[in-house]
Amino acid sequence: MEFKDVFTQLRENAHLSQADVAGKLFVTRQAVSRWECGETMPNTATLAQISKLFDVSINTLLGSPRQLYCQSCGMPLSDGILGHEGDGTPNEDYCQWCYNDGGFLTDCTMEEMLETCVGIMKEQGMPEEAARSHMTEILPKLSRWKKG
Ligand SMILES: [Zn+2]
Repeated sequence: MEFKDVFTQLRENAHLSQADVAGKLFVTRQAVSRWECGETMPNTATLAQISKLFDVSINTLLGSPRQLYCQSCGMPLSDGILGHEGDGTPNEDYCQWCYNDGGFLTDCTMEEMLETCVGIMKEQGMPEEAARSHMTEILPKLSRWKKG
């Protein structure tokens, strides 16, 4: 899907008119209409506002070109489970269990995160050894834990 389709669908699902959305984003109704026709794209700042308005990632607005993973625990991210900044803007890097309201929920080390994740995966039926080797592999590559 392209931005215009994603945007139109989000607007209609929220039962908002083009004028309603224009008012919330401080743009003209004509601007919204041009986005939906695919004539123009909102600028970066407006994309961020749209992301906040509909509580979806900018990645989703752009037609989901990337699969996002939480950069703290490695979980695949979708719009329902994104963390949020203090002002309510969705954060595309972290899940809501790792990060919310503008900060990390727990101040843990990578080793502690590994133990937590292995515990959860074990509960979900994965053998401990497989869970441990999987997490040992992926955690050091995530931006929260990457050194330098
Ligand atoms: Zn996470």
